[in-house]
Amino acid sequence: MDIKTYKQKLLEQLYEPYKKCTMCPLGNLGRKNIVFGEGNPNTKLMFIGEGPGQKEDDLCRPFVGRSGQLLTKVLEAIGLSREQVFITNVVKCRPPKNRNPLPKERETCTNLLLLKQIKIIRPKVICTLGSVAMQTFFENNAKISKIRGKIFKKDGTNIIPTYHPAYILRNNRELENFANDIKLAKKLSL
Ligand code: URA
Repeated sequence: MDIKTYKQKLLEQLYEPYKKCTMCPLGNLGRKNIVFGEGNPNTKLMFIGEGPGQKEDDLCRPFVGRSGQLLTKVLEAIGLSREQVFITNVVKCRPPKNRNPLPKERETCTNLLLLKQIKIIRPKVICTLGSVAMQTFFENNAKISKIRGKIFKKDGTNIIPTYHPAYILRNNRELENFANDIKLAKKLSL
């Protein structure tokens, strides 16, 4: 079995017992699907967002709504397809009315799934999208505008924080910085 198939199998085994997860409150607050994440299990570059929105919950795929379309466009503009990277979120269930996931929800999902996904994929670079994902690796009071586009080494992995694409939809003047951060993440992952 090649490494890609092996990692894919490990990811499927990880996902399987949690397909109807109710280990945190989000499991009983109206979500349809557990949006595990998708992409190349053997990639060197992983993107982590906050949590699924309505479209993601409906389709059981991460970043397929308006922010996802922007992310996909930026990836394509720098010569990357979604299939070459791995895209997931801190929480895998849609928070009601797209509210921010609560600390307990983040912590539960990070420990049960996200950290294990990272351990299986072993990416060289993780690009965090927005403050919720950033706070998984940095202090709660870290400011994206201060640390975005910088490289932080944590447990042998390079973390590059950047904005959430939903923020870019509202603040187009940061698009170039956002694209440059993702370009840097790509370069470092090669
Ligand atoms: N926002 C996120 O943080 N993740 C998604 O998958 C979609 C929108």
